[in-house]
Amino acid sequence: MKQSQLLLSTKKAIKSKIEIASHQLLIRGDFIEELAAGIYSFLPLGFLVLKNIEKIIREEMINLGAQELFLPALQPKELWAKTTRWKKMDPPLFKLKDRHQKDFALAPTHEEVITQIAQKRIYSFRDLPKAVFQVQTKFRNEMRATGGLLRQREFLMKDLYSLHQTEKEAILFYEKVKNSYFKIFRRCGLSPFLVEASSGTIGGTLSHEFMVESPSGEDRILICKKCGFGANMEKIGNIKNCQKCKGRMERKNAIEVGHVFYLSDKYSKSFNLKFSAKDGQKSYVKMGCFGIGLPRLMAASVEINHDERGIVWPKEIAPFLVHLIPIPSKNNAIQKEIEKTSDFVYHTLQKSKINVLYDDRKNRTPGEKFADADLIGIPIRVVISEKTLSKESTEIKERKEKEGKLVKIKKIINFLVK
Ligand SMILES: [Zn+2]
Repeated sequence: MKQSQLLLSTKKAIKSKIEIASHQLLIRGDFIEELAAGIYSFLPLGFLVLKNIEKIIREEMINLGAQELFLPALQPKELWAKTTRWKKMDPPLFKLKDRHQKDFALAPTHEEVITQIAQKRIYSFRDLPKAVFQVQTKFRNEMRATGGLLRQREFLMKDLYSLHQTEKEAILFYEKVKNSYFKIFRRCGLSPFLVEASSGTIGGTLSHEFMVESPSGEDRILICKKCGFGANMEKIGNIKNCQKCKGRMERKNAIEVGHVFYLSDKYSKSFNLKFSAKDGQKSYVKMGCFGIGLPRLMAASVEINHDERGIVWPKEIAPFLVHLIPIPSKNNAIQKEIEKTSDFVYHTLQKSKINVLYDDRKNRTPGEKFADADLIGIPIRVVISEKTLSKESTEIKERKEKEGKLVKIKKIINFLVK
């Protein structure tokens, strides 16, 4: 992609008072734009990151054996009344009326819909187990929607639902999902803590959250310094000593990036979702649900992966892998040579399927180009200038490193794919 063609307008500073680093950097780098409180547009750079996160999550869900589907956001009141959540979840359930004055919800989660679908399809032990997931827009009628992508009213979420015969099988799957979540978060540049959590309005008997330690986080967690046991303070209160080893608990602020629930038969009961076992006995299907908010994961990754100059994207979710930056020269002949070489490198990278953003803008100083590059945080910077050309080289620098190194133009592909 040529940068001159990209819909991108970075900002040196923001006038309004935004305290959260990820919020500030994502706005300054023009990844997102606020439409209203807690409602964001994803601009081309931001959407590339979101799509990369979605790709990672989809891969790991398919590895788990889950099948993808797509459920409606707009749902009738009757569905929510069945589980009494029409009342219990208000707030934050988003409610509205259609033109016939019928009540609807804009769903924040999909247990009701999925249980109803399963109830019409699961009859016997032969139909189990099943796991389904979707990546879909969710809504929450938040009281306060500040904090950028950390607290949105409309957001993209991956939700996975599991259906099993027994609690034992359901918990085994729950453990598998936990492992797959750790993989997803690692691929997004994060290493979260797993903490025991309260099940809240989702319900069920067992629940864990994946927490990324960050001063911007709104969750308060306690972590045992000795054995690593962690819990959300919402669940255990402000205790001093660990339940497991009596070690001292340390208080931390954290961002929740994933939440898993073992629901048992809470929803199966509401919708009479039963299956007949081998011996003909009927039992309620045991369910689990597992969520990851994609924009929040993106913001958490920025919280952890940035410095004073901008974002430092982990390679797998970066909008581009390489930022190609020619440094203009006032000498015409040299300028022509720089342009020719840069075009050549650009096409060579593209041919090798290396995702590259080419800063072909003519009216920018080197300082402005480097400041933009540092702000938007593409992992590898390739600079072509009079100085590098005199050695038939480019200067390659990783965003997270201070110094770059000269690499011969002929060897650039070998260097980048190694
Ligand atoms: Zn402990």
